[in-house]
Amino acid sequence: MTQKSSNILLIYTGGTIGMIKDPDSGALRAFDFNNLLLRIPELKLLECDIETLSFEEPIDSSNMNPDCWVEIAEVIELNYHKFDGFVILHGSDTMSYSASALSFMLENLGKPVIFTGSQLPIGDLRTDAKENLITSIQLAALKKNDAPVIKEVGLYFEYKLYRGNRTTKINAEHFEAFASLNYPELAESGVHLKVNKKQLFKPVTHDGLIVHKTLETNIALVKLFPGITAAVLTSIFNTKGLKGVILETYGSGNCSTEKWFLRLLKNAIEKDIAIINVTQCSGGSVAMGQYETSEKLTKIGLISGKDITTEAALCKLMYLLPKQLDKVAFKTAFQNDLRGEMS
Ligand code: ASP
Repeated sequence: MTQKSSNILLIYTGGTIGMIKDPDSGALRAFDFNNLLLRIPELKLLECDIETLSFEEPIDSSNMNPDCWVEIAEVIELNYHKFDGFVILHGSDTMSYSASALSFMLENLGKPVIFTGSQLPIGDLRTDAKENLITSIQLAALKKNDAPVIKEVGLYFEYKLYRGNRTTKINAEHFEAFASLNYPELAESGVHLKVNKKQLFKPVTHDGLIVHKTLETNIALVKLFPGITAAVLTSIFNTKGLKGVILETYGSGNCSTEKWFLRLLKNAIEKDIAIINVTQCSGGSVAMGQYETSEKLTKIGLISGKDITTEAALCKLMYLLPKQLDKVAFKTAFQNDLRGEMS
C-alpha cells in the first residue's frame, strides 16, 4: 500500500455530526461514529491517511467539561509524533470553549488541531457535516516544504477556518453558526482553498509541545445588567474558594459607579480573587479609562480582557490560575497575547 502525504487522526467526541434520531422520542442522541463514517465514502478519496478514535461514550457538547479537555489533550500528546494533524469532531454548542481551552493547554503546538462539527447529522440528506469534515481534514493535511501549514487550534465551519480561541457560536439555526468578530478568517473554502497566511499563528516550536493539564474551575462568569442586585453579586463573590471572575461589562468595559458595587469588586481583589473585564459586545475591545465609568476599575485592580472573547477569557483564567503567579505577574500574563487570543 502506498503511503499518502499526510496522516490525520480524527477524534470523535460527540455532537450532532454523529447523532441519530431516537425512533421513539425523536430527540437526537450520540451514535456509534464508526458506522456513520461508512456513509462518507469520499474520505477514501482524500490525499491522506485517516485513523479514527472515538470517546468511549460520545457526548452532546453541553456535557463538555475540563476533564474531557484533558482527555482530548492527552490523546493529542500521545499521538503527537505519529500524525501530521488532528481533527476533532465536537458539538457546536460548546465548541468555542473547547477550542479556546485546547489552545492554552497545548503550548508550542506545531501541528494543526481543527475542531469541526455540524448543525445536521451526517446521515441527514441536507447535512452540512460532509463539507465541514472533508475540508477540515484537507486543512489539517496541508503542508508546505514537508511541514504543516497550520500550527494552531482552529475551528472550521461552513466554508471558514477561524482561530478557535477567537470564535463564538452566534446562531443555532444557520449553517454559518460561528463568528470571529475580532480576528479575520484563517482560511476560506470556495472553488479553491484560500489560506490567509499572514493571519496564521506563528508558534515557537523548537521547545516541543508542552501539555498543560491543570485547570482551575473555582471561577465564575458574571454578566452585568441594569438592576443587578448587591445581594446576588455579594453571594457570588463570597463563594467559598472562588479564585477568579470574568465580569462581562457594557460596551468598552463600562459598569456602574455605585459605591456598593465598586467596594464589592475592591474587597474581592483584596481577597486575591482575579477579576477580568470583558465586554458583553460580540465585537470590539475593553478600553478601561475611556469613560469615567471604567476609569475606577483600573485603580481597583481589574484586569483588562481587551478584545478577548468570553469563552477564551474563561479558559485563559482556568489555565493561568494554577500557575501560582503573584498579582502583578498574573495581570501581565493575562493581558499578554499567549495564543493569538487577543490583539
Ligand atoms: N447539542 C449539540 C452539541 O453541541 C449541537 C451540535 O452538535 O451542534 O453537542
